[in-house]
Amino acid sequence: MSEKIMTENSAVTSNILKGKKGLVFGVANKRSIAWGISKAVSQHGAQLAFAYQGERLREGVEELAKTLPGHSPLYSCDVTKEDEVKAVYEKVEADFGSLDFLVHCIAFAKKEDLGGRVVDTSRDGFLLAHDISSYSLVTLVRGAEPLFEKAGGGSVVALTYLGSEKVVPNYNVMGMAKASLEAGVRYLASDLGKKNIRVNGLSAGPVNTLAARGIAGFTTMLENHRNRAPLGRNVELEEVGNAAFFLLSPLSSGITGEILYVDCGYRIMGA
Ligand code: NAP
Repeated sequence: MSEKIMTENSAVTSNILKGKKGLVFGVANKRSIAWGISKAVSQHGAQLAFAYQGERLREGVEELAKTLPGHSPLYSCDVTKEDEVKAVYEKVEADFGSLDFLVHCIAFAKKEDLGGRVVDTSRDGFLLAHDISSYSLVTLVRGAEPLFEKAGGGSVVALTYLGSEKVVPNYNVMGMAKASLEAGVRYLASDLGKKNIRVNGLSAGPVNTLAARGIAGFTTMLENHRNRAPLGRNVELEEVGNAAFFLLSPLSSGITGEILYVDCGYRIMGA
């Protein structure tokens, strides 16, 4: 049943995002949520540029980008380096002129902080996780603002997880960073709404990616979700992509500062 739905969903195409240009942060490989989103928005006509962390990822991102229609500019950017963020937006302006949407799919925490006790989190580990996973949204939105203004508005989607509001074993410091990210979504949405710039969060159920595999007991997390979610399964990458497409497109023009749960219903369950 779910397979059939996914086949049909994947095939959905339109011109809703034709002529729209988007910048995507966080493609590491074909399993990345950022890649699932990229494929979805591309199927609706968007042109994309990709920012990846460091040259080691370039070849992989280049191979994936080649599978999309049109030319996709690629930029190297570590989001903790302000000069690299600034350089990316200069290149986006040169390549695209303006920008219609931004996809934030970036998170990182030290392995030792994704297990054990939160009480033992080091200051360094806390700051690193918050810098990469939360402050990066602020700096990336600030960089995008003038390019969104040139387009007459913009839409931002940042990926988050339920561990921001509920205690999920081993999610630990990332739960705190995601709570900060989600608050950022609301404050940024409030700052920029008058400029027709929308900022939303998408809270995905667990998806088997490189970053997720860094969390101790991730396989158990997937299993728990599957067993407890009303839909009785884990969320598919394509479903996260389709929901992000909705948030990035004019179809969601009245929505900002929200967190949309794409988790097969897991969050509504009390026990
Ligand atoms: P992923 O494929 O490993 O993507 C994470 C990305 O963040 C990678 O491309 C990674 O690059 C990048 N990144 C880390 N530090 C960076 C830095 N300093 N500068 C620039 N980029 C950096 O994993 P994912 O699961 O798709 O994660 C994407 C987003 O979805 C994250 O925000 C994650 O928290 C969120 N999310 C994931 C799940 C899930 O279950 N997978 C559920 C809900 C939300 P490197 O590979 O070079 O480190």
